[in-house]
Amino acid sequence: MSNANAPLKPAGRGRNLELPEHLKSYKGVWVFIEHDRGQVHSVSWELMGEARKLADKLGVSVAGVVMGGPDEKLDEFAKEAYTYGADSCYVMRDPVLKGYRNEPFTKGMTDLVNQYQPEILLLGATTMGRDLAGSVATTLGTGLTADCTELNIDGTTRALAATRPTFGGSLLCTIMTLAYRPQMATMRPRTAPMPRRDDSRSGSITEATLGMVETDIVTKLLDFIPDANRNTVNLAYADVIVSGGKGLKNPDNFKLVWDLARVLGAEVGATRPVVQAGWVEAERQVGQTGKTVRPKLYIAAGISGAIQHRVGMESSDVIVAINTDANAPIFDFAHFGIVGNALQVLPALTKAFEARLAKQIRKVA
Ligand SMILES: Cc1cc2nc3c(=O)[nH]c(=O)nc-3n(C[C@H](O)[C@H](O)[C@H](O)COP(=O)(O)OP(=O)(O)OC[C@H]3O[C@@H](n4cnc5c(N)ncnc54)[C@H](O)[C@@H]3O)c2cc1C
Repeated sequence: MSNANAPLKPAGRGRNLELPEHLKSYKGVWVFIEHDRGQVHSVSWELMGEARKLADKLGVSVAGVVMGGPDEKLDEFAKEAYTYGADSCYVMRDPVLKGYRNEPFTKGMTDLVNQYQPEILLLGATTMGRDLAGSVATTLGTGLTADCTELNIDGTTRALAATRPTFGGSLLCTIMTLAYRPQMATMRPRTAPMPRRDDSRSGSITEATLGMVETDIVTKLLDFIPDANRNTVNLAYADVIVSGGKGLKNPDNFKLVWDLARVLGAEVGATRPVVQAGWVEAERQVGQTGKTVRPKLYIAAGISGAIQHRVGMESSDVIVAINTDANAPIFDFAHFGIVGNALQVLPALTKAFEARLAKQIRKVA
């Protein structure tokens, strides 16, 4: 009989959260290698770098999972996976795996997991990765931590410690899946650094079959219509970003951000209030509900540095903040700060860089 007055057990310490005996055989870290139209999404290599670090801490190996059609370059993707840290790859080729669809990919991945039993499975928090991760976790009946900003191994339990923002981004929480396997997580592009490529690495391939035919699948891929706006804004992979916030006051002043970006060959970013006000398109929003960026240089003009913006850009190599308020939170983590009016500082920077550029061109000519 249960005792109503018994103290509640803290989450994660309950008896039923022990890893059951039959799941103790799950070993190794896997990365889903996402590809589309002949290109692997860079997030897969970023995750491969993270997987390598996790596996080294656990003393286990790393595997990539490559699924696709028989005429796709799956072996090439596997070879590339080794250069970024994989020890082996599971390759599943089938005509119904050409072009992503949830049903065959979920079956393929869950079958592989059930057969080869990895302890950790990582996917990119992309449209495809999010779709697949949710259905694989549900089918396997395991835990999934979405949109992680950091992945680590808990020293006591050896469980995956997956950190992600919570409570509207005001807190970071670390989630562990203690009683189920595999432990699944998704991570957004550019959250982790790109690992160094080592072309001398190689690995083994395990071929797997899907066992599904076209008539088993409800979804049909009739045509591919590229989004006209796709890749017009390449914020996540830009080397230099000039971002503007509400401190610029109106859309006319925001043009000063574009001017500086043009001279620097940079992309333009913005905070959420700027996007909500319609000054720029939603694809340019940086932050928790926007893009995660990791440029070499991030110039933040008239941006307060709220946590929801910070989580999307704090991994930038160099952050330069321009703000009239010397106590603005952005100065707590910017590398260089200019306390001043962005409406004066931005044109001054544009002019200075233009002059420098002109000088360099004269030198070359
Ligand atoms: C669930 C949730 C998700 C969110 N997601 C995001 C997100 O993805 N990205 C995001 O950016 N925000 C997000 N937000 C909003 C976030 O909390 C902040 O409100 C937002 O980042 C603030 O934008 P801002 O810095 O442009 O504006 P403000 O906070 O209004 O800051 C304006 C800054 O400009 C300075 N300033 C004023 N005049 C000048 C001038 N002339 N020159 C220079 N500086 C000047 C001010 O001192 C101030 O620091 C989210 C909020 C929630 C609740």
